[in-house]
Amino acid sequence: KDEVNIISGALELRKKTVSDVMTKLEDAFMLPITSVLDFETMSEIIKSGYSRIPVYEGSRGNIVTVLFIKDLAFVDPDDNTPLKTLCQYYQNPCNFVFEDVTLDVMFKQFKEGHKGHMAFVHRINNEGEGDPFYETIGLVTLEDVIEEMIQAEFVDE
Ligand code: ADP
Repeated sequence: KDEVNIISGALELRKKTVSDVMTKLEDAFMLPITSVLDFETMSEIIKSGYSRIPVYEGSRGNIVTVLFIKDLAFVDPDDNTPLKTLCQYYQNPCNFVFEDVTLDVMFKQFKEGHKGHMAFVHRINNEGEGDPFYETIGLVTLEDVIEEMIQAEFVDE
């Protein structure tokens, strides 16, 4: 029974796309690059429970880098370090995928590792008058893909 589930889950990966399983941008826990890493902000980060926090500049759709929780190891909240200083130091890259990329392709990219285990999902917006532009609509992690593969919800500890 388990085997059947896993195999059918693996086959499903070719049909489903990253936009089917992503976390929507409006539900993502993110920080503006103008944040100050004071006690309050650091507590919020820890409380969120996420290991990677997208960092945006201006609007939430404009993600410029990712903060890893481990980057906070040497940060003293009493120093009121600007988030920007830390981001410039680590310069963690962000990866983008198109919304219609299928999960088997996404899984391969995650497995190969050169994309990290989180990617931002974007689409081309050509509605409206102006030129088409890229719009970020969500984020997807390896866990989202694996959840689909084994057809079970993970309970995050
Ligand atoms: P973590 O290591 O932070 O627990 P996972 O890669 O295990 O993250 O992903 C767990 C779930 O949380 C996935 O559904 C993923 O899309 C979502 N997720 C990851 N980071 C964030 C974030 N910063 N804000 C909102 N959801 C997130």
